[in-house]
Amino acid sequence: MPLTLAFACPACGEAVEGALEPGTTGLACPACAARTELPEAPALVAAGDAHACPVCGSADLYQQRDFNRKLGLALVAVGVLTGPFTRWISTVAFVLLDFALYLLVPTVAICYACEAQQRGFDRARGPKPFDIAVHDVYRFGKRHPPRRALAVAGPRSRVLLREGKESPS
Ligand SMILES: [Zn+2]
Ligand SMILES: [Zn+2]
Repeated sequence: MPLTLAFACPACGEAVEGALEPGTTGLACPACAARTELPEAPALVAAGDAHACPVCGSADLYQQRDFNRKLGLALVAVGVLTGPFTRWISTVAFVLLDFALYLLVPTVAICYACEAQQRGFDRARGPKPFDIAVHDVYRFGKRHPPRRALAVAGPRSRVLLREGKESPS
């Protein structure tokens, strides 16, 4: 699976999406044409493990299931099917469902600092699941990514926005 990246444009906040290839050094925003440099991109392509965020340079990322609408509908169907059965059958069904999800649903790696999303990496070697403690050190500004000015979409920028400050400084 090819490695792809989605992030908020540091210049205008619109979504930027693109493939990360061995020669990728940056991506241009479709809305404002600003180019975001992605210094870690070649290393990420080579390693295939989403060990860093190429937008803000942070090494703190988490991994979660990449749910989509189609899967949501499938889950509703499973819920309807398991409804009439007894509790233990449902439990077995959901254990099996969980296993099926592991096999079928791809995962996404998300940067704690700027919420850039990477897809297509090797999940066995990818980041750990979400940890609220790590989320909070970014939210409360106790840790900053190396290129903090580029982290326009993370929990810290939401706090600053709410407090009426323009930029994370
Ligand atoms: Zn832009
Ligand atoms: Zn980031």
